[in-house]
Amino acid sequence: MAVGERFLKFRCTGCGNCCKEPLLPLNDVDLSRLVSHTGESPLSIVKWVTRHEIAMEDEPEAFVRLRQGKRVMVLGHRRGRCRYLGKDDRCTVYDHRPTGCQVFPFDPQFKRDGGLKRLTLIQATDCLYALDGQNDVEGIRQMRERHDTDQHAYYDRVAEWNRDQQRRKRKGEHVGTPRAFLKFLGVRFPSS
Ligand code: SF4
Ligand code: SF4
Repeated sequence: MAVGERFLKFRCTGCGNCCKEPLLPLNDVDLSRLVSHTGESPLSIVKWVTRHEIAMEDEPEAFVRLRQGKRVMVLGHRRGRCRYLGKDDRCTVYDHRPTGCQVFPFDPQFKRDGGLKRLTLIQATDCLYALDGQNDVEGIRQMRERHDTDQHAYYDRVAEWNRDQQRRKRKGEHVGTPRAFLKFLGVRFPSS
């Protein structure tokens, strides 16, 4: 039996806490999906936070060099809640939500054969879950893989952008803006 296998019975009670306080790092695939679904400008969907606003010391690759300094791209909040959290504490973009939301709160480890080795829950908020549900290992594995693939591809692009900004700085040129970064990623701007 895998460590933490009891969490396969996790059931979300819909308390909405994970969509309130914690900030959710976004990648370009998440953002493009939200832009296509909502028709909003990508610049209005995201927020750029400093290392003082998000605990990501263990993921330096998430920091983008911008004109205003190094920032992590996260999903924007309004009045302490995700901008897409409805008044009834339900997600208004559920089918299009970021993969980080889809994997939450599972933090799994797998064996080489794909079997579950360990399952823990991410402690990002007061998650008022119940343990009377059913989740299958394969579903969790596929979700995690999709998230990790998009995230690593995004970090490769961030590294490319950051190298380019360092070159610009050395030549005495301005470091790029958030808009330039999003265009570099290929994120569509609805009005352009
Ligand atoms: S996109 Fe939806 S699931 Fe994700 S944090 Fe916002 S409200 Fe919650
Ligand atoms: S904090 Fe936990 S129980 Fe509450 S909505 Fe998020 S996943 Fe569900």
